[in-house]
Amino acid sequence: MQQRRELITPIPGPKSLALMQRKSSAVAQGVGTTMPVFAVAAAGGVLKDVDGNTLIDFGSGIAVTSVGNSAPRVVTAVQEQVAAFTHTCFMITPYEGYVAVAEQLNELTPGDHDKKTALFNSGAEAVENAIKIARSHTKKQAVVAFDHAYHGRTNMTMALTAKNMPYKDGFGPFAPEVYRVPVSYPYRDEKNMDGELAARRAIEVIEKQVGAGNLAAVIIEPIQGEGGFIVPADGFLPALVEWCAANDVVFIADEVQTGFARTGKLFACEHEEVVPDIIVTAKGVAGGLPLAAVTGRAEIMDAPHIGGLGGTYGGNPLACAAALAVIETIREDGLVNRAATIGSTMLNRLHLLQADDDRIGDVRGRGAMIAVELVKSGTSEPDPDLTRSTALAAHQQGLIVLTCGTYGNVLRFLPPLVMPEGLLDEGLTILENIFLQSR
Ligand code: PMP
Repeated sequence: MQQRRELITPIPGPKSLALMQRKSSAVAQGVGTTMPVFAVAAAGGVLKDVDGNTLIDFGSGIAVTSVGNSAPRVVTAVQEQVAAFTHTCFMITPYEGYVAVAEQLNELTPGDHDKKTALFNSGAEAVENAIKIARSHTKKQAVVAFDHAYHGRTNMTMALTAKNMPYKDGFGPFAPEVYRVPVSYPYRDEKNMDGELAARRAIEVIEKQVGAGNLAAVIIEPIQGEGGFIVPADGFLPALVEWCAANDVVFIADEVQTGFARTGKLFACEHEEVVPDIIVTAKGVAGGLPLAAVTGRAEIMDAPHIGGLGGTYGGNPLACAAALAVIETIREDGLVNRAATIGSTMLNRLHLLQADDDRIGDVRGRGAMIAVELVKSGTSEPDPDLTRSTALAAHQQGLIVLTCGTYGNVLRFLPPLVMPEGLLDEGLTILENIFLQSR
């Protein structure tokens, strides 16, 4: 596929508009879309729409197609698997692909202790299972999650997720025994709030309001995704891990968005040498096929009784074939380093932009997971309107960008790690011009 932005109609074009009308009639309105643009093909750093436009992709389908859409090794592996068999149910008659993915995850995730893995279909389902496993292991019930957290849309994961609109409003009651504590948010914390102080602030709430004796697990995204690409201050995560270890509390890293090379390490925990007891992965693991995993210390993972974990499709053979091809692609094509390079390029250009524009309150992120937090000029007051209008302007110029953040004021960039340098530059230039023109 040509790696070039090309607009031949306005965005959205007439065919996309017609499909949007059909969508409105046929699809529940609760299932929203960021852009009213229907895709027909995607590869490398671009996505082609039904009207023949080719857009630069700074979204990767929310951090999923890190190896690129329809990456060659993934296509071959899935084609071979789909021709062999599509499903037997691993709980009925197992197959090697599932075991091979588990072996790879046990090997690749942080820590050299004995590990085991169970596979599921989505990030939310894997998070739910991580909580089940932690409760089964500790024989305790409470779970601590953080301000600005996002862990999914199922009942348990809605309870863990912080933001009401759009994720929770009207959907309660939520799962009980979930407690929320403050995170480290360097841009919005008081200036003296370093990582260790922020951890102490969180731990104090846990000890006062929950009690370690009741607490099964602490779950955290090492870089918060939907909450605003919030990178905690150095020392925050290690201090939490240390407290969990001392208190028989399972530390769960939700690396659904940060995992699989996205942040310039294979896992974001590695930036601070954090070794979680359980790590949850999804999204980037299978190049777009639905797969998620819970990987953890063998003694924790083996706590649930035989038959206590599973599901019809978990670790589907096509998804497992894709995951093995993704892992090979990351290794063979040096995509961890590529993510780091993308990060330097983006951070350099966005910092330059910020120096001239005080509506860019913060530039942050790691690797190919970068964001700008937008504020009213010269203040730290969130500016969701500017965020929306900037994203819309980008979309109209053929650049796919996403927004996020508790205050809806964060523009986030998640390019595929195979994004050609020229397209990355072009995307950043489009953004720079939008900021220049809206001043
Ligand atoms: N955890 C995190 C950190 C996520 O970013 C997401 C998805 N955005 C989820 C969990 C839920 O994953 P899924 O949508 O596959 O259920």
